[in-house]
Amino acid sequence: MGTGPSRLKSEILARERGKYPVFFFDFDGTLARIEETPGKVKFRPVARSIVEELARNYTVGIISGRALPEIKKLVGIRGIFYSGNHGVEIEGPGIRFVEKKSAGSVKFIDSLDARIRKRLKRYGAIIQPKKYSIAVHYRTVEPRLVRGLLDDLEAITGPALKAGKIKLQPGKKVVEIKAPVEWDKGKAVEKILRKTGRHGRVFFFGDDMTDEYGFQKVNEMKGVSVFIGSPERQTTAGYSLDSPAALIGELARFLFEAE
Ligand SMILES: [Mg+2]
Repeated sequence: MGTGPSRLKSEILARERGKYPVFFFDFDGTLARIEETPGKVKFRPVARSIVEELARNYTVGIISGRALPEIKKLVGIRGIFYSGNHGVEIEGPGIRFVEKKSAGSVKFIDSLDARIRKRLKRYGAIIQPKKYSIAVHYRTVEPRLVRGLLDDLEAITGPALKAGKIKLQPGKKVVEIKAPVEWDKGKAVEKILRKTGRHGRVFFFGDDMTDEYGFQKVNEMKGVSVFIGSPERQTTAGYSLDSPAALIGELARFLFEAE
């Protein structure tokens, strides 16, 4: 895998005349450090001001696994594209979208919430309802209890899974219960780009499994995919940076350093 700050900068600057790059970012683990619970994650003011500056000059989209209202609030930058639930909901200049099958599954997903909560709370898991999905975070669960938690989750969701009413999606210390739909961050990238029209290179920055769809999409478009963190698994990203802080540093260099 290629890596390195100078390469990234030259990729950003290698834009075609008159066409500007577009930047897509995941949030948790990409623009902000992962904390023990999702509630503790903060967008540092320095990081925010740098992404804000980027957005003044270029198209920026934040594509997160969090629910849309939550990610908008956490990021707090106006006039950019936001996508929640890993691409299922999108909002931004000229677009307001919810993937159809997910919209139709809200009631059913909600009906699972109480049962999941009741059965899994005792493990110390954090259950996050996100309208179109439910996230079960187990970073706070004692390692020896994780197996039992996942078995219980499987028991609760088994019938609905078999009936094709939901699917499970794993991530970093999280399992999400969502509509059984082939919709992902890559599709959200496509949808947003249709709104922005003419554009140059497309960048996608992410750290987790669902970001691979974003990486693949921009790779297809000869864009630039960047993995944030130390890869503990296979990734399709073409580049990597060590941490959210390293990414913010790169963006700052790109924006503020004269050639
Ligand atoms: Mg992430």
